[in-house]
Amino acid sequence: MTATTLFYIILAILIVNFIIDKALDALNAKHFNDPIPHELQDVYDETEYKKSQAYKKTNYKFGLLTSSFSMVLTLIFLIFDGFEYVDNIARSYFENPIIIALIFFGIIMIGSDILSTPFSYYRTFVIEERFGFNKTTKKTFVMDKIKGWLMMVFLGGGILALIIWFYQFSGDNFWLYAWALTTVFTIIMNMFYAKLIVPLFNKQTPLDAGGLRDKISNYTNSVGFKLDKIFVIDGSKRSTKANAYFSGFGSEKRVTLFDTLINDLEDEEIVAVLAHEVGHYKKKHIIFNLTASIILTGLTLYILSIFISNPLLSHALGVDIPSFHIGLIAFGLLYAPISEVTSLIMNWISRTFEYQADNYAKKTYKAQPLISSLKKLSKNSLSNLTPHKAYVFVHYSHPTLLERIKNLKLKA
Ligand SMILES: [Zn+2]
Repeated sequence: MTATTLFYIILAILIVNFIIDKALDALNAKHFNDPIPHELQDVYDETEYKKSQAYKKTNYKFGLLTSSFSMVLTLIFLIFDGFEYVDNIARSYFENPIIIALIFFGIIMIGSDILSTPFSYYRTFVIEERFGFNKTTKKTFVMDKIKGWLMMVFLGGGILALIIWFYQFSGDNFWLYAWALTTVFTIIMNMFYAKLIVPLFNKQTPLDAGGLRDKISNYTNSVGFKLDKIFVIDGSKRSTKANAYFSGFGSEKRVTLFDTLINDLEDEEIVAVLAHEVGHYKKKHIIFNLTASIILTGLTLYILSIFISNPLLSHALGVDIPSFHIGLIAFGLLYAPISEVTSLIMNWISRTFEYQADNYAKKTYKAQPLISSLKKLSKNSLSNLTPHKAYVFVHYSHPTLLERIKNLKLKA
């Protein structure tokens, strides 16, 4: 194979991927005006329904604009040897391959972040604002950007530097060291995410003693689930949209409830949401997801190790001096179809898990408050009640509201 052929394969992957994605979006958009299934008639009243229609259409058009813009830029960058240009800048100041790689990725990341910032600004302060979701101040927006960059520099940069260093001393065996590193990193992040990362962006306070806390304890005791870490996070700092999630395992397991969730839902509904989260834990979904991600990473690193030393990867991107970082970019582009397939499989498994967690909540608590909480959450985020099957299959990590309610209403 020649570098030119490989270059065309990369272009083809990008373009085909883009076309499939846009076709799915369009298919989904065609069903925005479908009649609402009768199980979901009470989610919206007439005005809210009109508003949700407008929200879907706005997001669809905006998504089309941003993804087309980034697609065109990516193609221009590839066709005009942008990677070679950036690589030369990095090489003109430094000789150490690790430093060159860090500068190279730094320029690419910051460049693409600067280009995408106007779009995320518009999404937050125009679209989300218009539909009443936005609570982010300009200051929070800027601080989030800065913190995000710092995390990228220290965490992303640190991991990248170590991986290249592994490659320098162990050649193609680097993948084993890199796998060990990412595994340790993933486990630490899973355990301590709430303690290490969340405080950089949000305030978390333990849930106050009182009615809700008692109801939660009654429930967790009834299923023999030890849970002392229940935190309320100030999600309202950024948006009115509500959420709840489980993180950590062992002694570090904790449930985090958005303050917006506590505002929007009745106590019984919150306990039902929590019962769903406990279901994920009891059914070992947390451990499964962690194990699956570690195995997938190992597999990807192994495949990367087979190809990374081949100069063809760098030459395909028009870069004369082969290097680990250019090879990594080319590999990432070529690997996209495989990661699409794994993400399809992971979404399918995730939807299955959601049913299992719902069933657990139904069995150990009640179905009705979970149904009403799901309806409220959908209403308060103006979500799409009539998504297309193909779109759900590809993109949804959760079954649709209709599917979940039908399942919850089934007699156990
Ligand atoms: Zn869930």
